[in-house]
Amino acid sequence: MALRFPESTSECIYFTNRQIEDTGKAIAWVYKKTCPQCKKAKMGKPVEKGKVKIRATEYVCPSCGYTEQKQPHEESLIVEVQYTCPYCGKSGEATTPFKRKAWNGIPSYVFECESCKKKIGITKKMKKAKGKSDEDGG
Ligand SMILES: [Zn+2]
Ligand SMILES: [Zn+2]
Repeated sequence: MALRFPESTSECIYFTNRQIEDTGKAIAWVYKKTCPQCKKAKMGKPVEKGKVKIRATEYVCPSCGYTEQKQPHEESLIVEVQYTCPYCGKSGEATTPFKRKAWNGIPSYVFECESCKKKIGITKKMKKAKGKSDEDGG
């Protein structure tokens, strides 16, 4: 299976480039979903006065206005990953549901190295918390 690398992060609702352990790395992305209702546009966070509402709890079709709640919308999507495995050093591609699971106790998008079958996690990016922690930034 050959993944298509996104041409622009604007095609994606999620894009990250991570170091994994000391020697591994992963680039992961999730494409925007085509609206299941009109199939004419990609769904995204609602836009108000030219600004994307990052904190919105729903995704909206800019063409027909069809709306899906954040959680079921995201859980219907797939994370595509290009990685270099920190355990065996091989590079490969993988996909995993866009839903975090615990990996070493940290919520992560977990996939399996196709060469050595070890689990690799793309952990949630920890923001330097200033005062209260921001739980669901990305
Ligand atoms: Zn639509
Ligand atoms: Zn491996």
